[in-house]
Amino acid sequence: MDFHCHVDLYPNPREVYREAIERNEFTWLVTTSPRAFAATSKALAPSPRVLITPGLHPELAHERAAELPLLLEQIGLARAVGEVGLDGSARFKAHLNTQTRIFEAVIEECAGLGGRILSIHSRQAVKQVLAVLKAHPGYGTAVLHWFSGTTAELKAAIDEGCWFSVGPAMLATAGGQRLVAMMPGDRVVPESDGPFANVAGRPVMPWEPLHWPSWPAALAPVASNPGRSSLVNNARRLLAKISG
Ligand code: MN
Repeated sequence: MDFHCHVDLYPNPREVYREAIERNEFTWLVTTSPRAFAATSKALAPSPRVLITPGLHPELAHERAAELPLLLEQIGLARAVGEVGLDGSARFKAHLNTQTRIFEAVIEECAGLGGRILSIHSRQAVKQVLAVLKAHPGYGTAVLHWFSGTTAELKAAIDEGCWFSVGPAMLATAGGQRLVAMMPGDRVVPESDGPFANVAGRPVMPWEPLHWPSWPAALAPVASNPGRSSLVNNARRLLAKISG
C-alpha cells in the first residue's frame, strides 16, 4: 500500500505502474499539475488498485497558476485530491502568496463539494496549511505527507484531525522517527513519495513502505504482520473514506 507516489515521474512509469498493480493492493498516484493529471489519466489504463488524483504541487504553483480553473474542474469529478499544499522553504517562499491563493481555492472548493480526501505537502509551512484548513470547515480529510514540522506543529495537526502518510525516507532519520512515534497510531498510513524519496541511493518503490523494517516500536508489529497490522487497518479505513 502506498498513499503518496508519483508513479508517472519514475524513469519507467509504465513498468512501475504495472508492477504496483501486481504487488500492491492500493497505490495513490498523486499528480503535480492539472495537465499532468489529464495526461497520466489518459496514458495509464485505469485499475481499481490505483487512484490517480488531480493536484498542483506548491513547488510549481508560480509556473502553473493559470491551470487553477482546470484543477477546480477536475476536483469536482475526483474522489480525492493531491498533491496540493504549501512550501515555505528558502527556494519557494517567495511564491507563498501564489501558493496560498491556489491552496485556499482548492480547500474552499473541497468544502463546497461536501469534502474530499487530500494528500497535502506542508514543508516549512505547517502553520499556514493548518490556518487554511481551519478557515474552511467541511473540507474533508487532510493527509499530511512526509510531515517535517515541529512537535508543537504536529500536535496542532493532530488536533485538526489530520492523518499522516509516512515513508522510508522519513523513517531513516532520528527526527522523522521521533515525529512518527508521536503520531496517533490509528491515523498513520504508508507512503513512498517515489521517485523523489531516495533511500540508500535509489528511489523508494510503491510496494516497499508497508514492509519497511524501521517503523517505530508503536507501529512495529505492523511491518512484520501486515495481515493484522494497524497500518493495513488504517489504510482500509482511509480507503473507505475515499470510496465514500
Ligand atoms: Mn510528493
